[in-house]
Amino acid sequence: MKHPFRIGYGEDIHRLVPNRPLILCGTKIDSPLGLDGHSDADVAFHALSDALLGAIGEGDIGKHFPPDDPSCEGIDSSKIVQKCLGLVKKHGYCIGNVDLFILAEAPKLRPYEEAMKKRLSEVLGIEISDIGLQFGTNEKLDAVGEGKAIRATCICLLEEAK
Ligand code: MG
Repeated sequence: MKHPFRIGYGEDIHRLVPNRPLILCGTKIDSPLGLDGHSDADVAFHALSDALLGAIGEGDIGKHFPPDDPSCEGIDSSKIVQKCLGLVKKHGYCIGNVDLFILAEAPKLRPYEEAMKKRLSEVLGIEISDIGLQFGTNEKLDAVGEGKAIRATCICLLEEAK
Protein backbone atom coordinates (compact mmCIF):
# COMPACT_ATOMS: atom_id res chain seq x y z
CA MET A 1 0.00 0.00 0.00
CA LYS A 2 1.25 3.45 -0.86
CA HIS A 3 1.55 5.75 2.14
CA PRO A 4 -0.01 9.21 1.79
CA PHE A 5 2.97 10.75 3.64
CA ARG A 6 6.65 9.96 3.90
CA ILE A 7 9.30 11.57 6.08
CA GLY A 8 12.99 11.90 5.25
CA TYR A 9 16.11 12.92 7.15
CA GLY A 10 19.53 13.98 5.89
CA GLU A 11 22.71 15.41 7.31
CA ASP A 12 26.14 16.43 6.07
CA ILE A 13 29.36 18.07 7.21
CA HIS A 14 32.12 19.73 5.17
CA ARG A 15 35.48 21.15 6.21
CA LEU A 16 36.13 24.91 6.07
CA VAL A 17 39.27 25.76 4.08
CA PRO A 18 40.88 28.87 2.57
CA ASN A 19 40.51 29.76 -1.12
CA ARG A 20 37.02 28.33 -1.55
CA PRO A 21 33.73 30.23 -1.82
CA LEU A 22 31.18 29.64 0.95
CA ILE A 23 27.86 28.63 -0.58
CA LEU A 24 24.91 27.64 1.58
CA CYS A 25 21.43 26.97 0.17
CA GLY A 26 22.71 28.18 -3.20
CA THR A 27 23.61 31.54 -1.67
CA LYS A 28 27.10 33.03 -1.69
CA ILE A 29 28.11 33.96 1.87
CA ASP A 30 30.78 36.54 2.60
CA SER A 31 33.49 34.58 4.46
CA PRO A 32 37.30 34.21 4.47
CA LEU A 33 36.84 30.41 4.43
CA GLY A 34 34.72 28.19 2.22
CA LEU A 35 33.65 24.57 2.28
CA ASP A 36 35.89 21.93 0.77
CA GLY A 37 34.38 19.32 -1.52
CA HIS A 38 34.13 17.82 -4.97
CA SER A 39 31.00 19.81 -5.89
CA ASP A 40 30.37 23.39 -4.76
CA ALA A 41 30.21 21.74 -1.28
CA ASP A 42 26.84 23.27 -0.40
CA VAL A 43 26.38 21.28 2.81
CA ALA A 44 22.78 22.48 3.26
CA PHE A 45 21.70 21.39 -0.22
CA HIS A 46 23.41 18.04 0.39
CA ALA A 47 21.52 17.45 3.65
CA LEU A 48 18.31 18.44 1.85
CA SER A 49 19.06 16.05 -1.04
CA ASP A 50 19.64 13.17 1.38
CA ALA A 51 16.38 13.96 3.18
CA LEU A 52 14.50 13.77 -0.15
CA LEU A 53 16.20 10.50 -1.10
CA GLY A 54 15.66 9.05 2.37
CA ALA A 55 11.95 9.78 2.23
CA ILE A 56 11.54 7.67 -0.90
CA GLY A 57 14.06 4.98 0.09
CA GLU A 58 16.45 5.83 -2.75
CA GLY A 59 19.70 5.64 -0.78
CA ASP A 60 21.98 8.67 -0.43
CA ILE A 61 23.62 11.25 -2.67
CA GLY A 62 26.92 9.35 -2.64
CA LYS A 63 25.08 6.61 -4.53
CA HIS A 64 23.57 8.95 -7.12
CA PHE A 65 26.53 11.36 -7.38
CA PRO A 66 29.71 9.34 -6.73
CA PRO A 67 32.59 11.56 -5.47
CA ASP A 68 34.88 10.07 -8.14
CA ASP A 69 32.49 11.02 -10.98
CA PRO A 70 34.31 13.77 -12.96
CA SER A 71 30.97 15.17 -14.20
CA CYS A 72 30.19 16.19 -10.60
CA GLU A 73 33.34 18.30 -10.22
CA GLY A 74 32.45 21.82 -9.11
CA ILE A 75 28.77 21.07 -9.79
CA ASP A 76 26.16 23.56 -8.56
CA SER A 77 24.45 21.53 -5.82
CA SER A 78 21.03 22.89 -6.81
CA LYS A 79 21.36 20.41 -9.70
CA ILE A 80 21.77 17.59 -7.15
CA VAL A 81 18.66 18.77 -5.28
CA GLN A 82 16.69 18.97 -8.53
CA LYS A 83 17.69 15.47 -9.59
CA CYS A 84 16.54 14.17 -6.18
CA LEU A 85 13.30 16.13 -6.54
CA GLY A 86 12.83 14.47 -9.92
CA LEU A 87 13.05 11.07 -8.20
CA VAL A 88 10.53 12.22 -5.58
CA LYS A 89 8.10 13.10 -8.38
CA LYS A 90 8.80 9.82 -10.14
CA HIS A 91 7.75 8.02 -6.96
CA GLY A 92 4.48 9.97 -7.03
CA TYR A 93 5.16 12.44 -4.20
CA CYS A 94 5.52 16.18 -3.76
CA ILE A 95 7.08 18.17 -0.94
CA GLY A 96 4.84 19.15 1.98
CA ASN A 97 7.48 21.06 3.89
CA VAL A 98 11.19 21.01 4.62
CA ASP A 99 13.06 22.05 7.76
CA LEU A 100 16.78 22.76 7.51
CA PHE A 101 19.20 23.43 10.36
CA ILE A 102 22.67 24.84 9.69
CA LEU A 103 25.32 24.73 12.42
CA ALA A 104 28.21 27.15 11.96
CA GLU A 105 30.36 28.99 14.48
CA ALA A 106 31.02 31.76 11.92
CA PRO A 107 30.06 33.72 9.92
CA LYS A 108 26.69 34.92 11.16
CA LEU A 109 24.11 33.48 8.76
CA ARG A 110 20.99 35.35 9.91
CA PRO A 111 21.57 38.21 7.41
CA TYR A 112 21.28 35.64 4.59
CA GLU A 113 18.07 34.01 5.81
CA GLU A 114 15.77 35.73 3.29
CA ALA A 115 18.08 35.08 0.31
CA MET A 116 18.52 31.42 1.27
CA LYS A 117 14.77 30.85 1.69
CA LYS A 118 14.10 32.51 -1.66
CA ARG A 119 16.63 30.24 -3.36
CA LEU A 120 15.24 27.15 -1.62
CA SER A 121 11.76 28.12 -2.77
CA GLU A 122 12.98 28.49 -6.38
CA VAL A 123 14.90 25.22 -6.43
CA LEU A 124 12.18 23.17 -4.72
CA GLY A 125 9.20 24.89 -6.34
CA ILE A 126 7.45 25.34 -2.97
CA GLU A 127 6.22 28.35 -1.00
CA ILE A 128 8.56 30.14 1.40
CA SER A 129 6.00 29.40 4.13
CA ASP A 130 6.75 25.67 3.63
CA ILE A 131 10.45 26.17 4.36
CA GLY A 132 11.96 26.12 7.84
CA LEU A 133 15.50 27.45 8.12
CA GLN A 134 17.32 27.55 11.42
CA PHE A 135 20.83 28.51 12.42
CA GLY A 136 22.92 27.65 15.41
CA THR A 137 26.49 27.44 16.67
CA ASN A 138 28.04 24.38 18.27
CA GLU A 139 28.94 26.29 21.45
CA LYS A 140 32.65 26.16 20.48
CA LEU A 141 32.58 22.37 20.83
CA ASP A 142 34.03 19.88 18.36
CA ALA A 143 35.02 20.63 14.74
CA VAL A 144 32.00 22.85 14.02
CA GLY A 145 32.49 24.79 17.23
CA GLU A 146 36.19 25.22 16.51
CA GLY A 147 35.30 26.81 13.15
CA LYS A 148 36.78 23.92 11.17
CA ALA A 149 33.53 22.72 9.57
CA ILE A 150 29.87 23.48 8.91
CA ARG A 151 27.14 20.89 9.51
CA ALA A 152 23.61 20.81 8.18
CA THR A 153 20.64 18.60 8.98
CA CYS A 154 17.29 18.46 7.25
CA ILE A 155 13.95 16.75 7.54
CA CYS A 156 11.26 16.82 4.91
CA LEU A 157 7.68 15.65 4.64
CA LEU A 158 6.44 14.32 1.33
CA GLU A 159 2.79 14.04 0.38
CA GLU A 160 1.28 11.81 -2.23
CA ALA A 161 0.96 13.86 -5.43
CA LYS A 162 -2.62 14.51 -6.53
MG1 MG B 1 28.32 16.79 1.06
